[in-house]
Amino acid sequence: MNSLEQFAAEKLSALEQRALRRELQVTSRTRHPLVERGGKTLISFSCNDYLSLSVHPAVIEAAVAATRRYGVGSGASRLVTGNHPLYAELEARLAAAKGTTDALVFGAGYLANSGIIPALIGNADVIFVDELAHACIWAGAKLSAARVITFRHNDMAHLAELLVAHRRNHGRAMMATDSVFSMDGDLAPVAALADLAEAHDAWLMTDDAHGLGVLPKPEGAARVPLQMGTLSKAIGGYGGYICASENVVALLRNRARSFVYTTGLPPGTVAAAIAALDFIAANPDYAARPLALARRFTAALDLPEAASPIVPLIVGGAPEALKISQQLQAAGFLVTAIRPPTVPEGTARLRFTFTAAHQEADLDRLAATVKGLLTPRP
Ligand SMILES: *Cc1c(COP(=O)(O)O)cnc(C)c1O
Repeated sequence: MNSLEQFAAEKLSALEQRALRRELQVTSRTRHPLVERGGKTLISFSCNDYLSLSVHPAVIEAAVAATRRYGVGSGASRLVTGNHPLYAELEARLAAAKGTTDALVFGAGYLANSGIIPALIGNADVIFVDELAHACIWAGAKLSAARVITFRHNDMAHLAELLVAHRRNHGRAMMATDSVFSMDGDLAPVAALADLAEAHDAWLMTDDAHGLGVLPKPEGAARVPLQMGTLSKAIGGYGGYICASENVVALLRNRARSFVYTTGLPPGTVAAAIAALDFIAANPDYAARPLALARRFTAALDLPEAASPIVPLIVGGAPEALKISQQLQAAGFLVTAIRPPTVPEGTARLRFTFTAAHQEADLDRLAATVKGLLTPRP
């Protein structure tokens, strides 16, 4: 065996032994909230498409019409010829939704965070990151070459302590966190973060990937100068964005490498996002449903009240989480087990996401099944 093959084989077997090896599963998800997988139909509690906008007829129609009109690809980086006419409209919508003067759309949320942070800070600088922040915030922080300082999850006293100890040793400073934590479903204390950011001249970036479209704007959001998010969750399509001032956006347009050196999104994707934002604005009750359903579920299981449509049930070990996931699958539910390194060691979990397409009865059956699985048989 050559060294590459040997390396791959050894790594895989180490993952296998720790129940951490992952496999792709072919999944078809056109009949929300149902998915087809391995010949079985399951009710999915593992989609971030909270409002089923990926399959909404008006959104599909907008994507098809834009594709007919402008083609399937954008042909180049947006700074060359890839800035097709729909972008300006989408960016104006996003800026209006977030209350900023400008916005910039990236190819994906991951690309946004990987590009924004290194465009703003460098090796003489510092970034303070919540320990549970999304992987792409860490990727951006690492790429920036700034010093990365981790604060305990949502712990403002710890963050304040770290700012006092380290801020003055660096030139520019950022603070970055998810505003809705993707694997925990809880919310960041945005107003308290903004207080600390202002007091210590650290530029606050919040990642609202799981908030836009399904949660009200967090208190204090107006004081966040860098409001990042994605179009791939409740918006139903693909793409990332940042809402910020005109100057900051202009700088990112010039310097964010993951913006400059990549092709613009397909026109159909941009049109779909605009149609999705229209739908959300016109249907506030429907958009509120995922959170209401999550709360029904947490009440049924005596869990802490859901703060978002994401509800974690922490099991601990990866094999145990996989086992419960398989038992739920046998009962007709798709609930993916989330394992390290996506979550910290020892906190493998079931992650339930609730969508507007779920019926109350599905939920109640799910809650009863989970209860049964967690209660040890006498
Ligand atoms: C999903 C997610 C991202 C990545 O967004 P993509 O558009 O899927 O690349 C970034 N941050 C958070 C918090 C997310 O949950």
